[in-house]
Amino acid sequence: MSTLPRSCAVPGCPRPMPCPEHTVARRRGQRQQRISKRMRAAQPWCTYCGSPNDLTIDHIVPLSQGGSNAVDNLTVACRRCNTSKHNSLVTAPPRSETYDIIIA
Ligand SMILES: [Zn+2]
Ligand SMILES: [Zn+2]
Repeated sequence: MSTLPRSCAVPGCPRPMPCPEHTVARRRGQRQQRISKRMRAAQPWCTYCGSPNDLTIDHIVPLSQGGSNAVDNLTVACRRCNTSKHNSLVTAPPRSETYDIIIA
């Protein structure tokens, strides 16, 4: 058992947490998490099958086909639909105005 102070999560970086060099990347990850949380709060069901279980954030146009990480390319999908989609383009149903207001 050791009581060493937590060091930077980036392998090979000797600085202690919070590392001034690597906190930016961490914040970016937190932003993604916050968007994902807000999207699931605004629409707590899967866009494709309506399931409320095991929700993830899905890229409408997959990154591999030139899609972006922008909010308007993201939608809520259950893990099953997300993994079964396999990079095929699916047209998501239009989202409600409230949804866009909450996300914006
Ligand atoms: Zn670091
Ligand atoms: Zn689904």
